[in-house]
Amino acid sequence: MISASHITYYHLCHRKLWLHHRGMRMEDNSQAVAEGQLIGKTTYTRRPQRWRELDLGPLKIDHYDPHTNTVREVKKSPKLEHAHIAQVKYYLYAMEKRGIHGARGVIEYPKHRRTTEVSPLTDADRREIMGWEAEVQRIVSLPQCLPLVKKGYCRNCAFRDFCFV
Ligand code: SF4
Repeated sequence: MISASHITYYHLCHRKLWLHHRGMRMEDNSQAVAEGQLIGKTTYTRRPQRWRELDLGPLKIDHYDPHTNTVREVKKSPKLEHAHIAQVKYYLYAMEKRGIHGARGVIEYPKHRRTTEVSPLTDADRREIMGWEAEVQRIVSLPQCLPLVKKGYCRNCAFRDFCFV
C-alpha cells in the first residue's frame, strides 16, 4: 500500500523511502518533524470549523474543506516545496479514486507568510503520479537498501543519525 509518506520520500531520498517501507521509523526523534507537526496543529485550531479530517484508509488528510473542495497542508518551510506539492497532488489523486473529483490544494507556510496553490489534476498530472507509483513499487521491492548518497536534505532528515554513524 502506497502512502503519502512514500510519495514524499520518493521525491526526497530513495534510501529513506526504502527504509520507511521496511518499517524504520525515526520521525519521533526528529526536532524538525516535531516542529512541523506543531505548526500544523496550532494553525488548524484557529479555523477548526471549516476544515475536516478526511480518512482515505492508508491516507489521512488533516484538513479538507468540503464547501470549496480544497485540501490544505501546513508546512514549516518551503525549502522542500516540490515534495509538498507531490504529496498534495497524491491526495487529490487518491480522492479522485474515491469519487471526489476536481479538488484543489493549498500549501500554507505560516512562518513564511506564503501560500502555494495546487490546481485540480490534469491528465498529465495523473500520468505523472502513476509513474511515481510504479517507481515507488520498484524501489521498495529492491532486496537491499539503497546506498547512502549525501545531499543537503540529510541535515534535517530524521534518519541522519542512522545513516551517518
Ligand atoms: S540521512 Fe540522507 S541518505 Fe539518509 S535517509 Fe536521510 S536523506 Fe536519505
